[in-house]
Amino acid sequence: MNSISRRNVLGTAALGAGGLVMPAMARAAERNLQLAQLPGSPPLAEPAPPALAGTELPSFRFAMEAQQGKIGNGGIGKEATVVEFPVSQDIAGVSMRLDPGTARELHWHATAAEWAYVISGRCRVSVLDPQGHSEILDFGPGDVWYFPRGHGHSIQGIGSTPCHFILVFDNGYFSEFGTFSITDWLGHTPPEILSKTLGVPSDSFSAIPKGEVYFAKGPVPGPLPSDPPAASETTGPLTHRYRLEAHKPIEFAGGSIKRVTVMDFPISTTICGATMLLKPGALREPHWHPNAAEWQYYIGGRGRMTVFGSHGRIRTDEFEPGDVGYIPQGYGHYIESIGSQDCEILLAFNNGNYEEISLSDWLASNQPLLLATHFGLPESVIAQFPKQSVFIASGKS
Ligand code: MN
Ligand code: MN
Repeated sequence: MNSISRRNVLGTAALGAGGLVMPAMARAAERNLQLAQLPGSPPLAEPAPPALAGTELPSFRFAMEAQQGKIGNGGIGKEATVVEFPVSQDIAGVSMRLDPGTARELHWHATAAEWAYVISGRCRVSVLDPQGHSEILDFGPGDVWYFPRGHGHSIQGIGSTPCHFILVFDNGYFSEFGTFSITDWLGHTPPEILSKTLGVPSDSFSAIPKGEVYFAKGPVPGPLPSDPPAASETTGPLTHRYRLEAHKPIEFAGGSIKRVTVMDFPISTTICGATMLLKPGALREPHWHPNAAEWQYYIGGRGRMTVFGSHGRIRTDEFEPGDVGYIPQGYGHYIESIGSQDCEILLAFNNGNYEEISLSDWLASNQPLLLATHFGLPESVIAQFPKQSVFIASGKS
């Protein structure tokens, strides 16, 4: 907004003094105008979310698995939205377990896309897109799915052991317990409407559930046909499944990472993700993400993350398996692997493209004299800094 349009805002707000607009709006507009008139004043920024506006940074850890969660019919769901974890404004997440045969019923999300990673067990997913393409696919450990906002889907545990998966949503306000579920809808729709739509007598629906089932328990379905009949599938050009486990890891001195972005998985336009392994003592070096917030689920081992939020604000939290971590977009952070085991972390970002700037890379891109001027260090020390990104440093210094 330039200063002329701010004056227009003030003009409108001034009318408000006559009762048309709230006085608070008039005050805000007046303050904005004063700020705009200060020579050299920065452009007006959005206010920080309340969780980040204080003189101290809040915790960036939430013990998601320690909750009781939603339980029933062979399913368990535990979530982390801004209600449970106020700092996580841009990304919400869920840990879900389904017994064999238990289905997370047919549903869609009006306000979020869903990205998921299977940790253990197997499940079968059905999904329909607005172009009429459908997929029925089986998932196992290390597989990822992505459902764009609004695609109708279901998830059912198959095999002989429970299936555990992590869901990630590109909206911190999204609750997995507030989805648009098929039993909730049909249970509140007159039977005559269902009869006209589905072509069977209306009394056929007298015994259907009258409220949301959420977890529906049934028999484990048989295997999918390995050679489906010709013309029996309506799969679209973009599949909803990506096999991250089969991905070749990028190796570093202190660990490795497997990452999937929209480049490899074209349907996943609003979320990318990774699994990262940090050996004992390793350091994921200081860095930030220009284009996304980061959401983490600690799968194994122990980690210690430190976040930098400007104004001298630093916050360190320790993480154990089942904990969730969150870093607001653009905030600096690093992670130390502090246990005797490898620290394994699932990472997700609310952008299909992955971006980062690492400390080592940033310093290497500047002339040594400039760095000497900042830190008062001799150029001979700066000459020993790495010449490219370290990414994961080993435990040995
Ligand atoms: Mn869903
Ligand atoms: Mn990061």
